[in-house]
Amino acid sequence: MQHEKLIILGSGPAGLTAAIYAARAELKPLLIEGAEPGGQLMTTTEVENFPGFEHGIQGPELMDVMRKQSMRFGTRFEIGYVTEVDLASRPMKLKTSEKEFTCDALIISTGATAKWLNIPSETKLRGKGVSACATCDGFFFKGKDIAVVGGGDSAMEEANFLTRFANSVTVIVRGDALRASKVMQERAKKNPKISFLFNTGIEEVLGETAVTGLKIKNLKDDTTKELSLQGLFLAIGHSPNTKLFAGKLDLDEVGYIKVKPFGTDTNIEGVFAAGDVADHKYRQAISAAGTGCMAALDAERFLANRE
Ligand code: NDP
Repeated sequence: MQHEKLIILGSGPAGLTAAIYAARAELKPLLIEGAEPGGQLMTTTEVENFPGFEHGIQGPELMDVMRKQSMRFGTRFEIGYVTEVDLASRPMKLKTSEKEFTCDALIISTGATAKWLNIPSETKLRGKGVSACATCDGFFFKGKDIAVVGGGDSAMEEANFLTRFANSVTVIVRGDALRASKVMQERAKKNPKISFLFNTGIEEVLGETAVTGLKIKNLKDDTTKELSLQGLFLAIGHSPNTKLFAGKLDLDEVGYIKVKPFGTDTNIEGVFAAGDVADHKYRQAISAAGTGCMAALDAERFLANRE
């Protein structure tokens, strides 16, 4: 059993910022990286809105710089992810598949994960033309016709990005309007390779070993038709990574960790939450980094008062 003063779960902007602050406060944090090291920015291309980078920066590069910055002050990294927690005992207990840890304070920044439609044909063809990561898989669709599902900023961003490779991109929206910000909408609408289908649902992804098309349904008149294409990208939002904490921490109705207003305290003393795992509203790298900083300051105060 390895004892730590402070453990941070997750290595996205929230976890790494918490690590930078905690390490500079001499707390010698241990950061357990989680299932997707670097978090969601690892699958983003250009980040244009993170302050400090006048000409933008690639998502993976930003995470690499943050990681190195946190290491410079003594953050230690543990590869792996936590499978069990006991937040009621003191010290608290955590298990990964390899090791067991105890800690006095815990910062949870386990982020959120892309949602899927969860229809059987989509599941069957995942990785065979169905993807939730345009940055990872876009390259495989050179000269192909593809579709993106969703009407938010992610869908607009992915559609635009995919036009670098694809012959055409059809954006499939279940409602009659886009939810994306005006600037992202305009960029997509101006792109000659992008077209939109509103009030449309996906009944089935067609194909046996590779995507060959979609069976789509007009949600206004219930008529169905088939579209011939070779790829489907999901951009329909995210779910918080909080399964591990169900029944152990107060979560809201969709599973996000509840924190005290303008703070990072959870309902359990010594447990703090930062980033997308506790934020269904803003979900930005900069707001995740901001709450990561707050969580480190809250943990530092908690540990100092205890001592
Ligand atoms: P959003 O929740 O904003 O949008 C999800 C979209 O998917 C909506 O159009 C929604 O439809 C649709 N949808 C949800 N479930 C289904 C389903 N089962 N079938 C079909 N369609 C579905 O998620 P995003 O990931 O786009 O954005 C999340 C946050 O991240 C936002 O705050 C956004 O601004 C931000 N973001 C910012 C970026 C940037 O600034 N560069 C880039 C990407 C994201 P409906 O509208 O009908 O609910």
